Amino acid sequence: MTKRRTRKLIISIISIILVSFFYFITSYINPEENNIQERKTIPVTKGETLEVSFIDVGQADSILIENEGHYMLVDAGNNEDGEKLVTYFKEQNINTFDYVVGTHPHEDHIGGLDDIINNFKINNFYMPDVITTTLTFEEVLDALENNNVNLTIPKENDSFSLGEANIEVLHVGDESESDLNNTSIILKVTYQNISFLLTGDAESKIINELDSSDLKTTVLKLGHHGSITSTNETILEKTSPQVAIISAGVNNQYGHPHQEVLNLLQQNNIKTYRTDQDGTIIVTTDGVNLDVKTIKTDTNG
Ligand SMILES: [Zn+2]
Repeated sequence: MTKRRTRKLIISIISIILVSFFYFITSYINPEENNIQERKTIPVTKGETLEVSFIDVGQADSILIENEGHYMLVDAGNNEDGEKLVTYFKEQNINTFDYVVGTHPHEDHIGGLDDIINNFKINNFYMPDVITTTLTFEEVLDALENNNVNLTIPKENDSFSLGEANIEVLHVGDESESDLNNTSIILKVTYQNISFLLTGDAESKIINELDSSDLKTTVLKLGHHGSITSTNETILEKTSPQVAIISAGVNNQYGHPHQEVLNLLQQNNIKTYRTDQDGTIIVTTDGVNLDVKTIKTDTNG
């Protein structure tokens, strides 16, 4: 080998080493890019998580929230969903609910609550300050009385904890509302950096009036089964969710979720899950990352 060739070879080797070193350093000092990739792959560890399940109850709502073995139920579907929910919760060895909320006294929200009250220990039971004359509503009141469960009317800005999670009451309507949907108890569930905004069937004018710092959320349960009366551009801007959840029945008579709402969600790049298409939607979080699992059943409708 000539001296010249040897020098050339040495320069090539040094160049390769320098280039590799440069790549190593830039990937190291660019943690933002690395983090995003890591975030997708870090599994959420069971045991230190908040789990929020949007249960597939067809054209209705039922949301189970769990943290550190404490359970909260927001709504219980229609009348015929009661027994199904009781079985589902018993399969998970749930005996006690720290909190049960009937967001507003429409059948598709409080229908199954009597079965829940008759089958589980309930430490706190919340509904808004409004009465209706329906049989469904009377069944709920009877079940409360028979099981010695007190009905509490929460106040706006009340907050309480479920394990390490914080629950805040953002809105409670009363008899002055002409539309029962607008009496909906609106809740915000916060677990470290992650939050869930549960809007019941409240219309956009009610949601819009809420404090904008309260509205910002990671996961938004769209109001009124994805109806245009509850979701508009302003609300999506104010809430800026990463994930949207729609609880609706397959081919329901109301046309929920409305196409305009689906278009808005798509335009805003919001990942959307629907019980009518995905079945039960289970969102698990460790306070930083989100895992979404869906379980399709044939019970929607
Ligand atoms: Zn409803």
